[in-house]
Amino acid sequence: METNFNPARLNAPESLLGMSLPDLTTLMAGLAQKPYRARQLFEALYRQRIATLDEISVLPSDLRRSIASAGYIIGTPQIVQAARSIDGTERYLVQMADGETVETVWMPDGDGGERGDGSPAAFEEEESTPSFRRSTICVSSQVGCAVNCHFCLTARLGIRRNLTAGEIAGQVTAVLNRHNVNLGSARGTGKSARGTGTTAHRNGSPARINLVFMGMGEPFLNYAAFMEAVRLLVEGVGIPESRMTVSTSGIEPAIRAFASETIRPKLALSLNASNDLVRESIMPITRKWKIAQLVEAVRTIPLRTREWVTFEYVLLGGINDQPVHAREVLALLNGMRAKVNLIVWNPGPGIAYTQPSPEAVASFQKTLIAAGMPTYIRRPRGRDIYAACGQLKRTLDHSQSLAPSLVSPALIAIGTLSA
Ligand code: SF4
Repeated sequence: METNFNPARLNAPESLLGMSLPDLTTLMAGLAQKPYRARQLFEALYRQRIATLDEISVLPSDLRRSIASAGYIIGTPQIVQAARSIDGTERYLVQMADGETVETVWMPDGDGGERGDGSPAAFEEEESTPSFRRSTICVSSQVGCAVNCHFCLTARLGIRRNLTAGEIAGQVTAVLNRHNVNLGSARGTGKSARGTGTTAHRNGSPARINLVFMGMGEPFLNYAAFMEAVRLLVEGVGIPESRMTVSTSGIEPAIRAFASETIRPKLALSLNASNDLVRESIMPITRKWKIAQLVEAVRTIPLRTREWVTFEYVLLGGINDQPVHAREVLALLNGMRAKVNLIVWNPGPGIAYTQPSPEAVASFQKTLIAAGMPTYIRRPRGRDIYAACGQLKRTLDHSQSLAPSLVSPALIAIGTLSA
């Protein structure tokens, strides 16, 4: 059962990261400060991504001391271990203040010739800009996951707790700082970057940041904190919502709530099956919300200009990869502004599925495309370091317990960092 109670949190300092501007305004009022001090603190936390109170030089030192005396720290999650794939993908073990860890993945620039990380923003960019640089961060929303998809390694962890909004947004700020990413001209100006999509590395070379909420956990089972993190990332950090995609296994009431959000990422529904029978056998959550219900809920989302809903489909050999399944997918999505993202199942230790044959994958894609459905095959990233889809589990700190054959030579720890 999911719980947020942790004795280690009793009497723990409170994190500023995760607080909204109104929260900070209330905090400052309690310290007899004017509202502009809250705005300065908000800019320091999110736009400038400053990691310690001492470094916020815009605030007088006695005010910084008062904030610390009131029991607050910034609370940026710490990258405590990292592994780099042969394809450049980096996987981080990120530690929260209470010692719990999640995994966050950095997928650096694609080569422009392949379908990159699978995010809709990446597809559009590759289609419209032949030469570009962009990176994607895959963010976790819970410690572990309660959904129990049978093909997913993360499911083996069960659920330990929800992440807070600060812990979700903090994964992004920690990774951006590690890679020295400067979010363009808006950085430090206090202006919102919504809609600009412009980012740059601090060395000045152009880059773009996409966020995919596809790491550990089901974001829609931690809905309030997840949406608060999105707002902080858009309004504070300066990443446009058009560059964010959230993936859900299909929590129907949350999809309906999502449809009425004013600031929201794009949606990806992790469909993975074309009928309830197959879906129930691989995703037990389908017993609660049937496919037709989910698709109906998705249809209530008012799509913005150039927005598409992505349907992710993990292909499992002999389970859901046959032509009949492709035809059922087409019937389900009939009339929707949708695209399908095929994911060849990534093996994980102890999971008894097989990969589909290359012929089955090609034929599935061909059937969908022939019917006019945009369909892509996601390029696997970081498979050798268990950073690919459905592979996130705390294998970094437990890699020695994996069977030797499962530990690739490419699983190279590139740093064990102090917290
Ligand atoms: S695929 Fe996603 S929703 Fe399903 S168990 Fe894994 S992390 Fe949870």
